[in-house]
This record gives sequence, structure tokens and C-alpha cells, in this order.
Amino acid sequence: MRAIVYEAFSVLPQLRDIESPTTPISGVVIDVEATGVCRSDHHAWSGHDSTITLPHVPGHELVGRIASAGPEVTNFHTGQRVTVPFVCGCGRCRWCLGGNAQVCPDQTQPGFTHFGSWADQVLIHNADANLIAVPDDLPASAMVGLGCRFATAFHGLRVRANLSAGETVAVFGCGGVGLSAIMIARAIGAQVVAIDVSDAALDRAREHGATHTVNAGGKSPAELSAEVVGQFSDQCPDGVAVSVDALGREESIAAAISSLAPMGRHVQIGLLAAPPVIDMSRVIGLELSVLGSHGMAAAAYPEMLDLVVDGQLRPQDLVTNVIGLEDAPAAMEALGANTGSGMTIIDLSR
Ligand SMILES: [Zn+2]
Ligand SMILES: [Zn+2]
Repeated sequence: MRAIVYEAFSVLPQLRDIESPTTPISGVVIDVEATGVCRSDHHAWSGHDSTITLPHVPGHELVGRIASAGPEVTNFHTGQRVTVPFVCGCGRCRWCLGGNAQVCPDQTQPGFTHFGSWADQVLIHNADANLIAVPDDLPASAMVGLGCRFATAFHGLRVRANLSAGETVAVFGCGGVGLSAIMIARAIGAQVVAIDVSDAALDRAREHGATHTVNAGGKSPAELSAEVVGQFSDQCPDGVAVSVDALGREESIAAAISSLAPMGRHVQIGLLAAPPVIDMSRVIGLELSVLGSHGMAAAAYPEMLDLVVDGQLRPQDLVTNVIGLEDAPAAMEALGANTGSGMTIIDLSR
């Protein structure tokens, strides 16, 4: 099969022919229909993820059809169209059984712990616990992001921050996951201020529901948070209820924490190369919550999928670029410099 392979970190990946995966007893092999180009692919390729062994095939957001299923798979069948969270649980531990496979200690992740979906086929372990059946008539572009970016934003806002209608949210970074957070926050009924250094990204943020925008260019975290808080000076002058760092930079986290009102909730989605310094005095004094979001368990997907199927959430609108597999190495490289907005997906049928 065709696959994008890298032999060393930060060395341009190549399109190669490699062996197709062998179907595990309780897993499946999926014919990939489309797969996402996510910043965490770049994070792994840059050597920031200790789970990667070389050589490696990236890719962890996917939709496709089951090509073969192991003998222990009972809930899914060959030919079925499916997606999968990037964190696949073991299906047996107390976290998985409690509906929180996204923190399973024995998790597997395509594109991280084993070869991923930038290939004609990908292997998924513990299929019964992790696959999600998806309708045949939804476009692939509506489902690719459900594996990582869209689901991580949904879980972060809906479950971790328990965001409710009428609250205010500040989203730092308007790439794929940031725009997802903006779309989801608006669907919940929150008011959203979007922050980015690119005016083009801020224009897209407005298209997807941001009610306010702030250009962060050249501003210190203190200047930036003052401007963010100023956006809602009438209704909540002491800060926003929820902040989201969708960027993964120490400065954006500092600005986000400084933008929160007392008892505010910060959701950390952006991955970092090194642990950031966080103003814990402010966290203590204002009783702030700092919350991680690590994808979403398969068990939690029906609520989000229903909203996508009936059109209340339209992840397909976030897809700005559809490329073929041969263009994936250049797309990986571009992620490093990319502060652009929207999502790139790889169409395997091309
Ligand atoms: Zn588990
Ligand atoms: Zn991702």
C-alpha cells in the first residue's frame, strides 16, 4: 500500500510502498477514505512525542471503510463506514468502562503508538470499544476532524469546561482546533472573542461565529489580556468565563489565564514542546480551573455526531484545503510555518 513514511525527526517524509497491516484478533484494518493534517502530526514529526518509534507513518484523524475485521470483533463488519477517536482505549480498564477511554493507561493511538492513517490502510486496535459507525451520506470532510481537532474542542468546552449559553469564551489561536472551538461555543450559545496574529484567520473566525476579534500581533500577554477583557466590558468587566489555548505557547497561556474572571475555567488543547510557566498565584486567588482536553471517548460521540448529522455543527465548513497523498510531505512541512486557519485533509481516492 501507499504510505507517507519518515525515517528521522524533522526530515521530510516520503511517499512509499510498504506492507499492508495485518488484522489483529480484536482489531480492524480500515481502507482510509480521507485523513486530516493536524498540528499534532507536526509535533510528533518534530520529535516532541516520546511514544514515536522510527520509521513512522503519521495520521490520526480518519474516516474510511472496514477492509477486514478480527474474529473477536462483534459490533462492526467489513464494508462498514467508520471513524475513530485518536485515543483508542483498551476497552477493559476502569477508565474505559467508565466512559473515559481518552485517558486509558493502555491506550493506543494511530499515528503515534503505531503506524497512522496517512496511508491507504490503517490498523485500529480494540475495534468494538473504539470504532464509531458514521452515515454513508455525510461528506468525508464533515467527519475527518471528529477524530482529533473537532472532538477535542467539543469535549473541552462541552464536558471539561461545562460551557453554557450566554457565557463568554476567549479562544487563543484560530487554526483548525481553534475554529472548531469557536463553532462549538457558538452552537452552545456562548459569546466568543477570537485571538490570532493573522487578520485573515480572524476573518475566518468571524465567519464561524466569533462575535469579537483581537489581533495579538506585537502585544505582551498583559496588553493582550486587557484587550480581550475589554471586549465584554459591559457585561463582564472582570474577565471571561472560559479561555481556550488552541495554540500551545507559553505566552498565549499566560494571556488566557490573565483574561479569566474569578472562578473562570481554562481549557488547554494546544500541545507544548516544553512545560509552560503558569501563574499559580492567580489560579489560587481567583479559584481558576485549568483543564486538559485529550480527545474524546468513543462512548461520548453520539451527542456530537447527532449535531453534525442534523447540521447544527458543520465541521466540513472548516476544511479549506483537500490534497492528495503525494502532497502530504509538503503539507507536513508547511504546518511548521503555518499560522493559517482552517483544516487540510488528504483525500486517499485522489
Ligand atoms: Zn482502558
Ligand atoms: Zn490531532
